[in-house]
Amino acid sequence: RCMLAIETSCDETSVAILNDGRTVRANVIASQIPVHQKYGGVVPEIASRKHMENIVDVVDAALVEAGVTWDEVTSVAVTQGPGLVGALLVGVAYAKGVALARKLPLVPVHHIEGHIYANFLAEPDLTFPLLCLVVSGGHTHLIELTGHGVMRIIGATRDDAAGEAFDKVARALQLPYPGGPQIEQLARSGAEDAYELPRAWLENSLDFSFSGLKSAVLNTLHRSRQRGETIDAAGLAASFQAAVADVLVGKTCQAAREAKIDTVLLAGGVAANSYLRTRLTTALAAEGRRLVTPPLVLCTDNAAMIGCAGYYRLLRGITAQADLNAIANLPLL
Ligand code: ATP
Ligand code: MG
Ligand code: FE
Repeated sequence: RCMLAIETSCDETSVAILNDGRTVRANVIASQIPVHQKYGGVVPEIASRKHMENIVDVVDAALVEAGVTWDEVTSVAVTQGPGLVGALLVGVAYAKGVALARKLPLVPVHHIEGHIYANFLAEPDLTFPLLCLVVSGGHTHLIELTGHGVMRIIGATRDDAAGEAFDKVARALQLPYPGGPQIEQLARSGAEDAYELPRAWLENSLDFSFSGLKSAVLNTLHRSRQRGETIDAAGLAASFQAAVADVLVGKTCQAAREAKIDTVLLAGGVAANSYLRTRLTTALAAEGRRLVTPPLVLCTDNAAMIGCAGYYRLLRGITAQADLNAIANLPLL
């Protein structure tokens, strides 16, 4: 059982080969970050063009790395959405072509389900129920999982996603795209209490809000510049990161307590943040709970996670036909 998995939802062209959805034999990621960096963010038109240029080479590289021939591939999984439609279409069109030509089952995968399933690559024997904190460039969700594909969103952001807030604050600090890793790096040499920043607790809710925090950072910067004061950029980065983590950790612990779930998963690009990983691990452990995290390379966009989610979807009989279409705002449920 050998699956070819494709992910092209944003600025990574990625192709993976997996055995039984668990064993990753190859996970090739062609990042476009350098291409988009000079614009300070992902340019959709350029992203889809780059996917077009890259896709065939990335597929070939994955097959070579895995030591697998086309004849051994038994299924194809692809990210159907959400994401940039022009970028998604490249992966979907390629996957449809392969599935049709080789008469293989085609499995459509939701990108966020993929992020969640990166945890099953880290720990294949996870048992339900599970709670997952999804923190990515476009999503901030608390999700309760009671079986494969059986999910309930119990909290979500009301405005900016966590990763989006990292990227916007980084931009204001004139750091290159993507901002998350830059903020984390800068925060290492700053004091968490350098600046007083707000935390949106949204009483009696597991929802999140990061736009007020983002605005507070921008206002702090403007005020300092107007007054000609020097900005403690490292301190601001550390104070911001601590404010984001306080709320994410607080609400995740609350959700785990209320739902009585002992195993918590972390997913999405911001899951690569080691400050957050440490804070969440410690806070959950203090209440007798355990945090599972994917290895760093499986936190940000990659095709291995799509293959893992696709494997469990195929087991449930979820396949698509040749009329499969990319959907930019595909809902998770
Ligand atoms: P989505 O998955 O919601 O569709 P996306 O695919 O663009 O969005 P991901 O690839 O999951 O997002 O994650 C990218 C985001 O993760 C960016 O916002 C980036 O700044 C953030 N990120 C990556 N590494 C870190 C880090 N070490 N600390 C904080 N944020 C990080
Ligand atoms: Mg990306
Ligand atoms: Fe993503």
